[in-house]
Amino acid sequence: MKVVAYSIKTFEKEYLVKANQKRHDITLISNALNLETAAFADGKDAVLVFTNDDVSALVIEKLAGMGVRYIATRSVGTDHIDKLAAGLHGIKLANVPAYSPEAIAEHTVAMALALNRRLIDASRHSHSFDFRLDDLIGFNLHEKTVGVVGLGHIGYIVAKIFNGFGCRVIGYDIAVADQVDFIKSVTLEELYRQSDIITLHTPLTPQTYHLVDEYAIELMKEGVMLINTSRGALLKTTDVLKALFSGKIGYLGLDVYEYEKGLFFEDHEYDDNKDPLLQQLMEHPNVLITPHQAFLTREALQQIANQTISNLDSWQSQRCVGDACVCAKNCRAKEIKDKINNYTIPLP
Ligand code: NAD
Repeated sequence: MKVVAYSIKTFEKEYLVKANQKRHDITLISNALNLETAAFADGKDAVLVFTNDDVSALVIEKLAGMGVRYIATRSVGTDHIDKLAAGLHGIKLANVPAYSPEAIAEHTVAMALALNRRLIDASRHSHSFDFRLDDLIGFNLHEKTVGVVGLGHIGYIVAKIFNGFGCRVIGYDIAVADQVDFIKSVTLEELYRQSDIITLHTPLTPQTYHLVDEYAIELMKEGVMLINTSRGALLKTTDVLKALFSGKIGYLGLDVYEYEKGLFFEDHEYDDNKDPLLQQLMEHPNVLITPHQAFLTREALQQIANQTISNLDSWQSQRCVGDACVCAKNCRAKEIKDKINNYTIPLP
């Protein structure tokens, strides 16, 4: 297959090359996909994208016009892809349904520990030979209540790790009603009311968009710790900022940011105008922000590359990609017709 891979970082190349074994003719480019750079896909069968690429209806139309028949995202999340538009143009879609969920789960817990024990401040002070303990007091995780929203691949492992710390783990998932192992299933409202730490592990969908807004925050405990390693728009960031200032949210850990597109994954240190909302968040002492790096382990990178190449292999031999299929029509004509009839306005 002739393929162009967008938004490729230097560190990814070796994993893709190893997985590909020269089976597909892949052009690796660092540019993000957008209306302009779509031209690089001219004459290609497939494009590979990542979370902050623009895979909107207009871009898909352009890709289809140039003969592209397949789009594979090197991520679990597919909220950046207009699936309906792809279906209408007969473009097949695939993702990486699950890769090393431990990578994201471990980063989630690392954020909770770093926030709680003030590791960033402690390290900064120690490096300047200030070894005072003032302002470094944390709390024991043991016997605290951790609320996990979304008990899929990642949420389940997060729950397992916190359980290992001796936490009481409660969970909410639209698809899981009963107690799973050591996770007590509760309603979302109960989870908000009871949790000392809340961590989000759902995909971004119209139902989860701004899941945490001022009404949700109102239900939470005073000084709650909130961690989001899933998608930025699960939080209404302006409401979260207000709650940080009031003290309702005591700690905030973000690996994703509502307006990260065009910002994350690049060096913006010398930009004249920096995102003011993100700056306000960062100025807050109890906020830890990482640049969408939860997936970034060697194991996860190899698994992402392997699954992506396997998706191309399947398409080349006219096979469905199985669990990795994220086509809106789910490869069935009737369903896409229903979807078109029930079409709702996509997320901003
Ligand atoms: P998954 O599909 O295995 O699990 C998601 C769970 O969320 C499912 O159990 C589903 O039933 C549940 N869910 C869906 N809608 C819900 C709702 N409205 N309320 C409650 N639960 C709901 O996915 P996963 O592998 O665990 O990944 C979760 C998310 O993590 C991805 O969608 C992606 O956005 C994010 N992610 C982030 C990174 C990163 O580097 N920061 C890496 C990978 C994935």
